[in-house]
Amino acid sequence: MAKATTWSKPVSKALRADGVQVKDLNTAATPGFKGDKKAGEKYLEERRAVLSDLQEKLYANGRSGDTRNVLLVLQGMDTAGKGGIVRHVIGSVDPQGVDHAAFGVPTAEEKKHHFLWRIRKQLPKGGQIGVFDRSHYEDVLVVRVHDLVPPEVWGKRYDEINKFERKLADEGTTIVKVAMFVSLDEQKKRLAQRLERADKYWKFNPADIDERAYWPAYQEAYQAVLDRTNTDYAPWFVLPCDSKWYARLAVTELLIDALQGLKLDWPPADFDIEEQKRRLARA
Ligand code: ADP
Repeated sequence: MAKATTWSKPVSKALRADGVQVKDLNTAATPGFKGDKKAGEKYLEERRAVLSDLQEKLYANGRSGDTRNVLLVLQGMDTAGKGGIVRHVIGSVDPQGVDHAAFGVPTAEEKKHHFLWRIRKQLPKGGQIGVFDRSHYEDVLVVRVHDLVPPEVWGKRYDEINKFERKLADEGTTIVKVAMFVSLDEQKKRLAQRLERADKYWKFNPADIDERAYWPAYQEAYQAVLDRTNTDYAPWFVLPCDSKWYARLAVTELLIDALQGLKLDWPPADFDIEEQKRRLARA
C-alpha cells in the first residue's frame, strides 16, 4: 500500500512555522515525507484525486448557500515555484471553483488606497478556493526591503493584517498561508534555465538578478512575517521548495487538510427525489 511510504507525520505539523528560523532553513529537505521523488510523484496523482473530490463538495455546498471558503496564500521569492503550484495543484480541481488572483506592483489606482483595498476585492466567495499568488504580505516584504514606505507605516501593518485575517476567519474562510523558499544556489540554477530555454524566456525578469543582493534583507523580512503573523486562525506553513515534487505534494496535502476540516457532506436534494423520478419516467 502507498500508505507505508508516505508521511511520517501530518504535513500540517511538519511544516508549521512555529519557531522556524528562515536563515537556517534547509530548502532541500522534504519534511515528513518518507519516500523519494518517484514515490512522491506517484502519490501526488492519488492525492490530486482526493483534493478534486473535496473541492467539488465545497463547490456543491457553495451552490447551496454555504458561505465558507478556503484561501491559499502563496508567498515566495522569484523562482520559488508559485506558478508550478498553481498549475499542478490548483490545476487538478475544477476551474469553476477557483478564484485566482496575482498581485504585482500596485497600479496608480491601487496606490491611492489602503494596502488591503485590492486584496479585499479578490477574496473568494462561498464554495470557492481562493488562491493568492503573492498577497498583502508584499506590503511588509518588498515594501520593507526597498523602503517603499516609511518604517512607521509598514510597522503597523502586521497588526492590521492579523486583524484583517481574524475577521476573514470568523466569517468562514479557512486560511492557509504558505511561505516558499529555495536556496540562493537553486534560484541561480532556475534563473539560468530561464536564460537557456525558449519556453522559459517569458518568465525571466532582469530585475530578479538585482533582487538576489537583497536576499539577507528578505530573509529578515520573512522572519518578521512568521514571527508576527503566524496565528491559529491564519497559520503559516514554511515550505522548502528545492524539490518541486515535494512542494506540490505538500501543498496538495495542506489543502486536503483544510477541506477535510470543514467536514463537508454532499448537500441534500432540494426537490422530491421520488417525484422527479416519476416525472422523468413519464417524460
Ligand atoms: P511575478 O514576478 O510573480 O511573475 P509580476 O512580475 O506581475 O509577477 O509582479 C511581481 C512583482 O510585483 C514582484 O517583484 C513583487 O515584489 C511586486 N509587488 C507585489 N506587490 C507589491 C507591492 N504591494 N508593492 C510593491 N511591489 C509589489
